Amino acid sequence: MKLHEFQSKRIFARYGVPIPEGDVATTPVEAGAIAARLGKPVVIKSQVLVGGRGKAGGIKLARDPAEAERIAGQILGMDIKGLKVKKVLVDEAARIQKEIYLGVVVDRATKRAVMMASAEGGVEIEEVARVSPEKIYKVSINPFLGLQPFQAREIAFGIGLDKDLVGSFAAIAQGLYKAFVGTDASLAEINPLVVTDEHKLLAVDGKIVLDDNGLFRHPDLEEMRDLDEEAPAETEARKHGLSYVKLDGNVGCMVNGAGLAMATMDVIKLFGGAPANFLDIGGGAKADKVAAALRMILSDPNVKSVLFNIFGGITRCDEVAKGILTALEEVKPNVPMVVRLVGTNEEEGRRLLANANMRATTSLVEAAQLAVAAARGEA
Ligand code: GDP
Ligand code: MN
Repeated sequence: MKLHEFQSKRIFARYGVPIPEGDVATTPVEAGAIAARLGKPVVIKSQVLVGGRGKAGGIKLARDPAEAERIAGQILGMDIKGLKVKKVLVDEAARIQKEIYLGVVVDRATKRAVMMASAEGGVEIEEVARVSPEKIYKVSINPFLGLQPFQAREIAFGIGLDKDLVGSFAAIAQGLYKAFVGTDASLAEINPLVVTDEHKLLAVDGKIVLDDNGLFRHPDLEEMRDLDEEAPAETEARKHGLSYVKLDGNVGCMVNGAGLAMATMDVIKLFGGAPANFLDIGGGAKADKVAAALRMILSDPNVKSVLFNIFGGITRCDEVAKGILTALEEVKPNVPMVVRLVGTNEEEGRRLLANANMRATTSLVEAAQLAVAAARGEA
């Protein structure tokens, strides 16, 4: 689960990270009022859960309340990478000398959190990592010791920070790491952390991605979830207890079990196709859940074929078949469908689907090939 910039920065502030003064508005008038209260030039920032808002025109400076109101009027309702702006953050504008990147992520290779920093902040760090990886300074954090003060100083020197800022930088790095651990985040990032004209450090942007598996420990963070911002299919999936991740291919996949779902996507790729989604309907799925899953898959206009890959252990193939039939009655898909059903009650499952106008097979290889060909319009 991603948090908005304003939510992330408020959390960082609780851990001692300096952030600009500001507040959130949902109307231009509110934005103007916040600017008037701050009594200084402000920056109006669209609150949508994507990066690169600046480049997309979703971040603009305003000198006075009237301008703040006018610009908020332009940004509210704007479409940024497919997301509609419903909120803006009105922050006291920072006067920026230098933009630094500072972030903490889980490094799967070392099984530790790693802190990364770069003097080339502001822009997307993925780009820096690709073009000039030597410009990113990294330290690996021992989970029992936490971020050591010497490591924080090492990073500061590593990115060539002025000596007099090293102390406050180390405190910010500590705060960021504690926020990362304290919220069970998988990513906590300040980009940019700026050096202001007043020669102070300030977190101008903030981003936290929470580990969904840790969310049960943080009901206060769960409440920050912005349903407006989730892909509707993902909200729907959570409601039905399904694990769904939208991808950009065209073969819709319905699979029971996360491992089998991963393998299914690999096999689709192997035969030159591209999965439209990851979807795990879980063990023991009943008909209504299968129907919900199929509705979700078919709500994606990119889907050109659907592959069901069901290995019936706890899940019964006949139950899945009934679910598919229920869903077909409701949604009347016009894309070809392929089903691979094996395991408990597979005969019964295949018998039920015999009249459903879908290709059935027991071989995953064959099923994947059929689904990929169908998505290309070849079958
Ligand atoms: P992002 O594009 O979604 O990452 O949004 P950011 O909050 O990082 O803003 C993008 C860029 O806008 C920053 O890198 C800055 O260059 C600029 N910016 C953001 N806030 C301010 C501000 O308060 N003052 C000034 N002068 N520029 C800002
Ligand atoms: Mn940013």
